[in-house]
Amino acid sequence: MTNLLPKFDYYEPRDVAGACRLLSQFKGSARIIAGGTDILVNMKKGLIAPERLVGIGKIPGISEVQAVNGGISIGAHLIVEKLVEFDLVKKRFGVLSRAASVLGSPLVRNRATIGGNIVNARPAADLPPPLMAMGARVILTSMRREREVPLDKFFKGPGETVIRPSEVLTRVVVDSPPPFTGADYIKLMHRRSLEIAIVAVASRITVDGPEGVITDAKIILSSVAPKTIHALRAERSLLGERPTENLFARAAKIASTECTPIDDIRGGAEYRRSMVEVLTRRTLRGALDEAVGRSGERGER
Ligand SMILES: Cc1cc2nc3c(=O)[nH]c(=O)nc-3n(C[C@H](O)[C@H](O)[C@H](O)COP(=O)(O)OP(=O)(O)OC[C@H]3O[C@@H](n4cnc5c(N)ncnc54)[C@H](O)[C@@H]3O)c2cc1C
Repeated sequence: MTNLLPKFDYYEPRDVAGACRLLSQFKGSARIIAGGTDILVNMKKGLIAPERLVGIGKIPGISEVQAVNGGISIGAHLIVEKLVEFDLVKKRFGVLSRAASVLGSPLVRNRATIGGNIVNARPAADLPPPLMAMGARVILTSMRREREVPLDKFFKGPGETVIRPSEVLTRVVVDSPPPFTGADYIKLMHRRSLEIAIVAVASRITVDGPEGVITDAKIILSSVAPKTIHALRAERSLLGERPTENLFARAAKIASTECTPIDDIRGGAEYRRSMVEVLTRRTLRGALDEAVGRSGERGER
C-alpha cells in the first residue's frame, strides 16, 4: 500500500527574511523544504508530519557559489550535482566534488541540496566528511541575527544538530587551502550508486613543501559513530612528521580505535573498524599525492 503525504500548508518566501519570519511565526510547526529528498520520504513514511513547509528555492542568491578571498561561499540551496560540475569547486575543492559525485544517483543529485545534506545530520551523509576536513563553517540566519558555526560543532547525534527551529542555514563557507594541501574521500559501498556508505573517510593534509613535514592533518570518519567525527588522536600522530607509508599505517590503526561502529545489515562493527583502517591509509596517501601534485599518479585506492 502506498502511503500518501500528510496534509501541510506550503509557503514560498522570496527572501531569507521572509523565510525566517515564517519559521519564527509558526514556531516548531514549520520546516524548511529544500530538495525534499529526505523530508518528503520521512513524511511519506509517517515519521514526521510538519503542519507547514517553507520552500526556499525561489530566494535569490541562496543557490549561488561565490569565490571569496581564495575560499568559497556556497548557497545552502545549491543542488549536489552543481558541486560535481562547477569548475571552481572541482579545481580548488576537488574532494567536495568527488564526494558529491557518489551521493545517491543522478536523479537524487539533481534535487538534493548541500544544506539539506548537512541539516538532516545522517551519520552516513556524504558531504559533511569533506566539508569537515576542509574546516567548513555554516551560516545560520534567524530574524534576530546571523551566526557562524564550525561544522565540527554543528552535529549533536543522528538527525540532531545545533540549528534552532527559527534558523535557516543560508551558506556554507570554506577558506582557501594553504599551499601544499591535498584531500581525499573514499566511500565504501556495496553498489556503485544509490547506496549509503558502509564506511567513509575523508582526509586532508598540509605539508611545508614537496619533501617537507606535515603541518596540518584532518581525518574524518563517517558511518562509524552516531555522528561524523574527527579521529583526533590519529590526526595528532601525523603532525611534525615526514609523510611515509609507515606513518600513515600507524595513524590508520589509531583511527580505527577512535570509532564506535555498530552491526547492521550493511556491515558488521568489526568489518567497519577494519575498513576505517584501510580507507584512512588510502585517503592519507591520496591527500599527500594531491598536496605535492602527484594526483595523476594515483594507484590502487
Ligand atoms: C534514493 C535516495 C538516495 C540517497 N542517497 C544518499 C547518499 O548516497 N548520500 C547521502 O548523503 N544522502 C543520500 N540521500 C539523502 C538525501 O538525498 C540527501 O541527504 C540530500 O542532500 C538532502 O537534501 P534535500 O535538499 O533533499 O533536503 P530536504 O529533504 O529538503 O531537507 C532535509 C532536512 O534538512 C532541512 N533543511 C534543508 N535545507 C535547509 C536549510 N537551508 N536550512 C535549514 N534547514 C534545512 C529540512 O527541514 C529537513 O529537515 C538519499 C536519498 C534518497 C531518497
